[in-house]
Amino acid sequence: MLENPFEYYPGGGRITRFDEVDFKSKRVFLRVDFNVPMKDGKITDDTRIQSVVPTIKELQEKGATVVCASHFGRPKGKVDPKYTLEPVAERLGELLSADVLFADDSVGNAVIRQGKELRTGSVMVLENLRFHKGEEENSETFATQLSQVADIYVNDAFGACHRAHASIDKLPRLFKIKVAGRLLEKEIAAMSQIMFKPHRPMVAVLGGAKVSDKVKVIESLMIKSSKILIGGAMSYTFLRALNVSVGSSRVEADKINLAKKLLERAKESKCELVLPLDHVCGASFDKPGEPLVSLNAHILDNSMALDIGPKTVELFKNSLEGAETIFWNGPMGVFEKPPFDKGTNEMAKFIGEHKAQTKVVGGGDSVAAVKKAGLEDGFTHVSTGGGAALEMIEGVKMPGLEALKKV
Ligand code: ADP
Ligand code: MG
Repeated sequence: MLENPFEYYPGGGRITRFDEVDFKSKRVFLRVDFNVPMKDGKITDDTRIQSVVPTIKELQEKGATVVCASHFGRPKGKVDPKYTLEPVAERLGELLSADVLFADDSVGNAVIRQGKELRTGSVMVLENLRFHKGEEENSETFATQLSQVADIYVNDAFGACHRAHASIDKLPRLFKIKVAGRLLEKEIAAMSQIMFKPHRPMVAVLGGAKVSDKVKVIESLMIKSSKILIGGAMSYTFLRALNVSVGSSRVEADKINLAKKLLERAKESKCELVLPLDHVCGASFDKPGEPLVSLNAHILDNSMALDIGPKTVELFKNSLEGAETIFWNGPMGVFEKPPFDKGTNEMAKFIGEHKAQTKVVGGGDSVAAVKKAGLEDGFTHVSTGGGAALEMIEGVKMPGLEALKKV
């Protein structure tokens, strides 16, 4: 791990470290990412809550009171009970084995009063920030209202750092002391290590829905990796670029030329792009019917490739031999629909057991696939940020980190 996780972030050396701050008797505004998956009012995966528990506990031990704030879903600037954070506050209480106070708004006199009355070490969760339009509009007024509940700002919301919203951008700028939290340190360190100090050789495994989502990620990885293995829907645009007929598989027709260019550029960068040899096909996305394995040259016209085939799984496994860093983003197929999850599961298992020094998975769906297979422990880092993790790979500046810089 990097000693200073922000060393490689553009200008990042100027971000105040958690260890430098005296939190005693201070009220902390802790921006977290509690945007958890929920079904019928029940949390289906509490990883994002669990992952900030260490930060909260450390703040408690250091004598602070903690006010947690997050967005949740897309209530579009209006109060919508469907998107209340109350169940999250309850779950946090269970994880901390302590009472957690829930404030039914994020701003206003009542909330400020509740904040002031908190005893040292206690924790409060504010209602969904997105119940106010000002959050997504990055409103200065909303940020000013939010700032009144605390003395110090801590950002531990890696998954939200790529968005210039009020609690991420405008708000920290209003505080004298603004700090990166423990989760943020961990996420930035893991992603920076891959990009700037990888154990070589590095092999990237990319999949998922669209080439267009991942162009910059591919370009960026190409320079650092010896190979990029490409599966998932994305691979069909590349195969089309090589004149392979792919039946009715998902192809981005307007990105075929771009795929050709990426194939060329990879050659120049001495990075091998490894594409699938065979596929598990179905009749259609919604009604796949009986799975049928087809080699590249034999995908039927009316058939849609929904997973990588067994020969490709073997090829990909062989291509990972000797890798010391593996970065994975994007499932190899439609993993939500068994049996088309097989390629993804086999790759997850193989990478999970691989002896590479660094194994990182990032991306909403790929992380969900790894969790579904119960293989998180096989990775050195499982990122809690989907889009944010990819932006780190792209090497772009993130609003959340920019706003933490000392001025
Ligand atoms: P991540 O969130 O990990 O970055 P993406 O969002 O790019 O991944 O892609 C995930 C989606 O891609 C999943 O919903 C999956 O069903 C879909 N997908 C993967 N392979 C295929 C395929 N062959 N055909 C259609 N959809 C696919
Ligand atoms: Mg996704």
